[in-house]
Amino acid sequence: MTDFSMTLNEDQTTLRDWVHGFAADVLRPAAHEWDEREETPWPIIEEAAKLGIYSVDFLANAVADPTGLSFMLILEELAWGDAGLCMSIMGSSLAVAGIMANGTPAQQMEWVPQCFGTPDDLKLAAFAVTEPDAGSDVSSLRTRAVYDEATDEWVLNGTKTWITNGGIANLHVVVASVEPALAGRGQASFVIPEGTAGIRMGQKFQKMGIRASHTAEVVLEDCRIPGRCLLGGKDKLDERLARAREGKKSSSQAAMATFESTRPGVGAQAVGIARAAYEYSLDYAKERKQFGRAIIENQGIAFKLADMKMHLDAARLLVWRAAWMAATRAPFTAGEGSMSKLFAGEAAVKITEEAIQILGGYGYVREYPVERWHRDAKIYTIFEGTSEIQRLIISRAISGVHIR
Ligand SMILES: Cc1cc2nc3c(=O)[nH]c(=O)nc-3n(C[C@H](O)[C@H](O)[C@H](O)COP(=O)(O)OP(=O)(O)OC[C@H]3O[C@@H](n4cnc5c(N)ncnc54)[C@H](O)[C@@H]3O)c2cc1C
Repeated sequence: MTDFSMTLNEDQTTLRDWVHGFAADVLRPAAHEWDEREETPWPIIEEAAKLGIYSVDFLANAVADPTGLSFMLILEELAWGDAGLCMSIMGSSLAVAGIMANGTPAQQMEWVPQCFGTPDDLKLAAFAVTEPDAGSDVSSLRTRAVYDEATDEWVLNGTKTWITNGGIANLHVVVASVEPALAGRGQASFVIPEGTAGIRMGQKFQKMGIRASHTAEVVLEDCRIPGRCLLGGKDKLDERLARAREGKKSSSQAAMATFESTRPGVGAQAVGIARAAYEYSLDYAKERKQFGRAIIENQGIAFKLADMKMHLDAARLLVWRAAWMAATRAPFTAGEGSMSKLFAGEAAVKITEEAIQILGGYGYVREYPVERWHRDAKIYTIFEGTSEIQRLIISRAISGVHIR
């Protein structure tokens, strides 16, 4: 097991500073424009790919850090630059997490590189679980996957909603129900490769925040994929379904396994937004004069900043702890992954709101970035499990009681 240290090593600080440079030089200056345009920021993703940030190797190296911290540092810096652009760069990694959680080694080798493509031929990927009637309750998915034995193909039908990169992705990972009577235990994950017929984008959503990140419905109509696109393979699925029919315990559910492994990373992004707002409002409070003195000289403002910094640091520590626990395979006995995402998301909402208050009217207008940070922060209490669902997971873990 890797020892825990509060000091980052040289590799980690070098990586963090390098990504910070990209966030400061490329993301920050472009953030306002792409928030207004509300479109996928291809030139920014291209720039990230040219520098090697949008690539399978970069992601693989980051997650290979035995302390678990490198990926958290990257996500905090990118979201500090801009959360919407960060999601555009990192959205494909949600599909990667789905493939890594459920795919065989051969499937991982085949599909993961196709989530990013190359700098000259960029690809996007999407991970589609949520449906109009199945959000927090992922066990009630209606999208059906039916096996056609004659052709060794799976046929998918259904509608997914709120999908990051949905419909514009080259590759989609879709979670569907194979045996509805088994609810969550009757589900499986499928890769829909580029060029497959029967998959299309439905409505594209206009959002409150992270507007540079594309969010849309994905419609599947008699979408036929080869049998080898079932992640984990048919034998493993048949075995799992048989166990579920007999009422035996399952090791994991397809969708839940993926979300568990990505939660501290979501928290790290929230920390990045919160830090941006904290730093900006601290500088502003020292500059802005009212009643003949800097506004920070008033306890009413200074104490806000003290609380913001305290919540920011606490959030980061929870994120780092959860990432370290995941990397060292320490058991999550109290929902520590959920805790990190929950606390960081709520801290980001609170800190960005206080930042608006510190800037007064300047905090409320689009010429300044603070109102955007508040809009961006809010999604972190909703996606990848709402705050209420995180509290459910934590309270069940600490009590052993099936809290509803
Ligand atoms: C911008 C954006 C990007 C997204 N990206 C993706 C993606 O890439 N892939 C994907 O699959 N999904 C994605 N999602 C979906 C996201 O994960 C869901 O929106 C989220 O899980 C909540 O589901 P819901 O919106 O249906 O809300 P609901 O589940 O309907 O919840 C509504 C409210 O009820 C509360 N609630 C529900 N059940 C309980 C309970 N048992 N106890 C207490 N409170 C409860 C919730 O906490 C919430 O406050 C994205 C969403 C957004 C907005």
